[in-house]
Amino acid sequence: MVTEHTQAGSAKPAAQGTYRMVIIAHPDDAEFTCAGTVARWIKEGLQVVYVVCTDGSRGSNEPNMPPQRMAPIRRAEQLEAAGILGVQSTIFLNHEDGTLQPTLELRRELTRLVRRFKPDTVICADPTRHFHRDEYVNHPDHRAAGEAALYAIFPSAVTRFVFPELLDEGLEPHKVRQIYLYGSPEPNTFVDISDTIELKIAALRAHRSQVTSEYAEARLRDWNGSLGRNHGVAFAEEFRRITLR
Ligand SMILES: [Zn+2]
Repeated sequence: MVTEHTQAGSAKPAAQGTYRMVIIAHPDDAEFTCAGTVARWIKEGLQVVYVVCTDGSRGSNEPNMPPQRMAPIRRAEQLEAAGILGVQSTIFLNHEDGTLQPTLELRRELTRLVRRFKPDTVICADPTRHFHRDEYVNHPDHRAAGEAALYAIFPSAVTRFVFPELLDEGLEPHKVRQIYLYGSPEPNTFVDISDTIELKIAALRAHRSQVTSEYAEARLRDWNGSLGRNHGVAFAEEFRRITLR
């Protein structure tokens, strides 16, 4: 079941083109990867909507934290993080954590949201990343969410008669202008997040079931600091940016 939460006090409808959308697999993915950019865009006056594909319910290996207990905790943590950043709406598609697949059903759900919010820019995971260095296997949920998001953006959102049932809901085709892929093996752009690193740290800290306060701070200062050094700024996030013509 899809659930939707709107920030109190920011429910005014956005003009077309002012929305940006972040599509992620799990609560906390955005805070690890792109929340500095999200915070910067919001400071610049853009409105951001989060779409979280899974319920995060498998986020603990503790025997006393089964999925049905974990899911509401992760939802609350994600909403707290979104509130810190100023994200206007957070939508949970509530697929089962750990077994997400890039199905046509997921693609249709994401197409529906792209046509409804009409974002000019979407952030999602690069589905081509299988490994990070020789020390990390990318979670398949990340790749599934990234693949479904990309194909929702193109061709589904722009092609009138793909998912014709969406037309019956009044959802006309929409063309996204650019895609920012996080976690890409081939980044081609960066965003200076020096002014929003503190917000990013605070937002990641909200995911208390996943990270300690100390880890959140050390991890982001170290990681985004080293990316920043690559580009001559204090803190940065890197993306592969695709501009659709
Ligand atoms: Zn994740």
